[in-house]
Amino acid sequence: MRATLLEDVGKIALREFPDPVVQRPTDAVVRVTASCICGSDLHPYRGKTPSVFPKRIGHEFVGVVEDIGDEVTTVRPGDVVVAPFLISDGTCRYCRAGLHTSCENGSVWGTDDGSGARSDACQGDRIRAPLADGTLVRVGTELPEALLPDVLALSDVMGTGHHAAVCAGVGPGSTVVVVGDGAVGLCAVLAARRLGAERVVAMSRTPSRQKLAAEFGATDIVAGRGAEGIAQVGELLGDGADAVLECVGSQESLEQAAAVAHPGGRLGCVGAPLGNLPLGPLFMKNVRLAGGVAPARAYLPELLDDVLAGRVRPGRIFDLELPLDEVAEGYRAMDERRAIKVLLRP
Ligand SMILES: [Zn+2]
Repeated sequence: MRATLLEDVGKIALREFPDPVVQRPTDAVVRVTASCICGSDLHPYRGKTPSVFPKRIGHEFVGVVEDIGDEVTTVRPGDVVVAPFLISDGTCRYCRAGLHTSCENGSVWGTDDGSGARSDACQGDRIRAPLADGTLVRVGTELPEALLPDVLALSDVMGTGHHAAVCAGVGPGSTVVVVGDGAVGLCAVLAARRLGAERVVAMSRTPSRQKLAAEFGATDIVAGRGAEGIAQVGELLGDGADAVLECVGSQESLEQAAAVAHPGGRLGCVGAPLGNLPLGPLFMKNVRLAGGVAPARAYLPELLDDVLAGRVRPGRIFDLELPLDEVAEGYRAMDERRAIKVLLRP
């Protein structure tokens, strides 16, 4: 089978590997029908995070179960499944509390799965899924083609956008500012509207992303950045938003987010932090702060119901679809911001 290998900074290759097999009784083997490239895959690709090369890469997929270990009970061969971006057992105290990202037996796709064996990553033809009962979510015995991108978006970006909205306490009637127009920011717009937000200001200066933000329910677009963007939000919302969803994590976006919450407002941070949150302005405004790595697994069943019923369509964030053998071009397109998010098919 083929799988994507990040061989060095900026060097993506599709290589041949042995087919995965069930190694532990809690494993499943899944044939990947669609995967995607994440903004966070770009961090090692760009050399922004310490990495050991070569490394298997990819952590968002939809597929069909081909084989299961003796202890697996929630999925069976032939089932369509979707996987969140982290592996979790579903049974430890953190998983039971809905914080699957802190699972006591959890791991990251493509790293040591806890048994000393390295799990697979998903930008390939097949994958061994450890802790299948806890990790995989059964979609059904089939998935209509039109809904596949929407289900795939639940593996990470939609769950992460939703987490930002939940952390910021978005509810009916909320006024929201979303900082960031990447796939997560756009999904955060959709998530905020889904939770009942009345007004959603999307900060974006790219016309194609502004358009999608509006389709996802943004009521206002602010194109300015820095002091200009903050002033434009002020013109729209007066002293700021009830809820600010920070979906980038850069120094500039963290400062922007801190500046546009009103006194007593809430800030939900889901952008991987590459900068420092300015605590001074937040302190003086008594802004409540929450966020972190999104427990996508916890949100999957609820969001999957809405996706399968056609109530939310997060799959529209995929604006480039490529065959797996063009995966290197997919990374280039994301790196150069030519694509919001790339969907890969075998
Ligand atoms: Zn757990």
